[in-house]
Amino acid sequence: MSANGVCMFDRKHNCVVVVGAQWGDEGKGKLVDVLAEQADVVVRYQGGANAGHTVVVGDRQFVLHQIPSGILHGGATCVVGNGVVLDPETFFAELDELGTQGIDISGRLFVSDRAHVVLPYHKLLDQASEQQQQIGTTGRGIGPTYEDKIGRRGVRVADLCRGSSARELLTDRLARANAMLGMMGSARRADLDEHLELAERLGARLRPLARDTGLLVHTALRESRRVLLEGAQGALLDVDHGTYPFVTSSSTTAGGAAIGAGIGPTEIDGVLGVVKAYTTRVGNGPLPTEADGVMEGRLRELGGEFGATTGRPRRCGWFDATVVRYSVRVNGLTGLAVTKLDVLDTLESIPVGISYRIDGDVCEEVPSDVELLDRVQPVYETLPGWQASTAGARKLADLPPQARAYLDRLQDLAGAPIRYVSVGTRRDQIIEV
Ligand code: GDP
Repeated sequence: MSANGVCMFDRKHNCVVVVGAQWGDEGKGKLVDVLAEQADVVVRYQGGANAGHTVVVGDRQFVLHQIPSGILHGGATCVVGNGVVLDPETFFAELDELGTQGIDISGRLFVSDRAHVVLPYHKLLDQASEQQQQIGTTGRGIGPTYEDKIGRRGVRVADLCRGSSARELLTDRLARANAMLGMMGSARRADLDEHLELAERLGARLRPLARDTGLLVHTALRESRRVLLEGAQGALLDVDHGTYPFVTSSSTTAGGAAIGAGIGPTEIDGVLGVVKAYTTRVGNGPLPTEADGVMEGRLRELGGEFGATTGRPRRCGWFDATVVRYSVRVNGLTGLAVTKLDVLDTLESIPVGISYRIDGDVCEEVPSDVELLDRVQPVYETLPGWQASTAGARKLADLPPQARAYLDRLQDLAGAPIRYVSVGTRRDQIIEV
């Protein structure tokens, strides 16, 4: 690994994207929090309240679902971009919670007026659909809101802000949603009065925050300010590139950042992919390097692998280089951040999945057919563990030789340079390479 790597932001890199390069929960929140210190604007560009970032500042822990992690730095302007589906009820609950924790957001949090809103009827539809399809969604209405967006029957922030005309729109949307619930065999129905009350109450709170945030980001870049685009979930959950149909409903890969933030793709200067030093996944669908029962339990325990939003235990396994290589390709990653290296500190040896075998043949790419991916046999290489604490390391030279060798191997297999290594939950537990 080269010791003269560059920081993600520099004179040539004003606009940087941070994406998850596995199945989400890679620790993007911590990386964004660390990078946000150097950023002027931080933008969330896809997903909704189904994603949760956990950020530890001092002895306080913040779980952010919809507000960009950059909010924890006083200087950063934070933006919820047009590509996000915004749940206004939980958004303001999160905002109020930050307020009680002394985080002042006045004048530095904006919401795109083009973002679509998640309403209670979307949650009813989500829950009814999950009964039928079992994708393992969080039931928070994200999928149905994106479906409505693409179906051109959504409700946008601008609609809620308009006030009186929201009644007509919501009457129409609820009639359709209730008909759908009936067709899906659900006995539950959305209530118009509840929606009207919510639209009035939260529309009034959204109005001062709503604007053309694409213009805001564009202007910041024209003024040579630093912009960080913060992704949610991970590449293998991308609606196009993930393990379809076990995916989320948005473009989680870097291409989605331009669309969801409202800027052109040529504005983006660098893409940092966050990977755990091992692999986890929440929900159903293939996970080729899933560990066996005992080791899976050990990884889950050591890594605290329980969902930030739902508390669901995460499925755990070994680093899958085929997945990360694929992620480097579909995201155009210019660098990697490896997190949770410390979680492996006590292991005697560490398997790394270097490729797959399908029916005896070697396979070096992620198959598009989910049934095939479910059948692949990972080919493992086993590296020696270091059995020493890495939590105090602040530069590469502080790491045990076996840990450095492990990182070198991951970098070679993945085909992208490692820029950061995270060795604990705290802000200072990071190595810049
Ligand atoms: P995100 O959605 O990608 O931000 O990931 P989550 O917040 O769901 O999960 C990351 C979890 O790992 C959080 O609880 C973080 O505090 C924690 N975390 C992040 N980096 C590290 C690290 O280097 N070591 C350890 N032990 N925990 C970490």
